[in-house]
Amino acid sequence: FLSIENVEKSFGKDGRREQVLRDINLQMEEGEFVSLLGPSGCGKSTLLSIVAGLARPDSGRLQLGGQTIDRPGKERGMVFQEAALFPWLNVEENVRFPLKGAMSKEQMQETARRHLRLVQLSQYGNHHPHELSGGMQQRVSIARALAMDPAVLLMDEPFGALDEQTRMRLQDVLEEIWIETKKTILFVTHSIQEAVRLSDRVVVMGTHPGRIIEEIPVALGRPRAQHGKEMAEYEAHI
Ligand code: ATP
Ligand code: MG
Repeated sequence: FLSIENVEKSFGKDGRREQVLRDINLQMEEGEFVSLLGPSGCGKSTLLSIVAGLARPDSGRLQLGGQTIDRPGKERGMVFQEAALFPWLNVEENVRFPLKGAMSKEQMQETARRHLRLVQLSQYGNHHPHELSGGMQQRVSIARALAMDPAVLLMDEPFGALDEQTRMRLQDVLEEIWIETKKTILFVTHSIQEAVRLSDRVVVMGTHPGRIIEEIPVALGRPRAQHGKEMAEYEAHI
């Protein structure tokens, strides 16, 4: 569904050119949850921005649902470590913001409210971002990314700035969202526990240059029919 083929990326000029991504290959099925794990500087954010269309690879091919992707598009939603909400807009207006021009006012309102329900913030539509905790703000940014109904949700350490308890709460929320929406999610994290808990598959990257060094199927204890295959593989592995 999402196909990353032979992607390479370097930064810098001439003699000081450094390869940041080498021969990245990753295929994701529709509805799959994949975590990207690896040391700081291995190129996780670079890879995500390439998939988002915000950066161009030097070579390689990206496809989503059979279409080549080479620029940003609404079929890819993105969530960063910082929620980056508009402080002058209330929560519902923040979620409605990307929908402008795409639908009627009533539809925008219905869509925004449905997504606030999804992140369990129905009561907070009229609040402003500064009245919300960091975890709640991050839930708003997830609702905003999902409101466009993207085919893929790209998440770059979305819970990295949160305390442990909030992080666990947000993991619960994300898991519920994923079960309900069946979104394809590519999720960057530094936490092995988080990756194992949430994903179907953990892709481990190494550094200098950034490359994929291992792929681990997980899906431990997750009640999903399609996990059967991976579970069998995993059990055969141990
Ligand atoms: P972290 O876990 O700390 O977020 P990361 O795996 O996301 O790290 P990237 O941010 O993708 O790593 O960076 C990979 C490498 O590419 C780093 O060495 C970084 O300095 C370099 N890099 C990233 N973006 C640019 C840029 N726009 N120009 C030059 N170098 C860059
Ligand atoms: Mg990063």
